[in-house]
Amino acid sequence: MWRFRRCAFAGFVLMVFFALTAPTYAQGSGMTKVIAHRGHWTPAGAAQNSIRSFIKADSINCYGSEFDIWMTGDDVPVVNHDTSFKGVVMEESPSGDVLAVILDNGETLPRLDNFLEAIRPTSTRLICEVKSHKDKVKEQKLIKETVKMMEANGLSPRVEYITFSREGLLNLIKYAPDGTPVYYLNGDMTPAELKSVGAAGFDYSLSTVRKHPEWFDEARKLGLKTNVWTVDDEADMQWCIDLGADFITTNRPERLFRLLW
Ligand code: MG
Repeated sequence: MWRFRRCAFAGFVLMVFFALTAPTYAQGSGMTKVIAHRGHWTPAGAAQNSIRSFIKADSINCYGSEFDIWMTGDDVPVVNHDTSFKGVVMEESPSGDVLAVILDNGETLPRLDNFLEAIRPTSTRLICEVKSHKDKVKEQKLIKETVKMMEANGLSPRVEYITFSREGLLNLIKYAPDGTPVYYLNGDMTPAELKSVGAAGFDYSLSTVRKHPEWFDEARKLGLKTNVWTVDDEADMQWCIDLGADFITTNRPERLFRLLW
């Protein structure tokens, strides 16, 4: 009996040890965090920029799930990546036409308010890309409305904005609540320039940071964060990790998790 108790106690100690030392990948401090590009859309039943793909990214504990937003011709914010998708031009078409588009997983193309309501119960961060619009007045209106929608849904503390648009960058910094991270995608501003306008850091393509690996250190010294897109190859992922990237945006989040373990 005494021997049994000793074994049980040893087992308990081992369990506590393993629980304390288990890997805590996505959220660990000082470790590269995983952002699913347009959601986790590779599993069956998901599609890029669908509600399902965001929920799938949340289900595997991604730090963030990226999605893209447009303002339609009649000023309705919607979730989609392409300028023109399945023959419908996002920025110019009436919302009736845009919202009639069926995604590859059978979902209809989401209106932003419906998308936010559906993903509200998840815990993954929203990496919201404001697409660069030809009509900059429309783009600014989209930014103002999106900020309001995030607030109305209680999502402001969970959102980080990204954009290729210089005007968009400045408007997001201006209109989003103080402390909301805003990152620039276009690769043509140095970390010092980003710091001077109040950006949280860079979110640059792999080809850009391959040309400027020194920007990781420069950003760190300025207190900026670093994100690289869209990194799907294991060797490229490892290169970014070795340079201390804060985030990697990928179409293959599970592959990146395996590497980080
Ligand atoms: Mg995007």
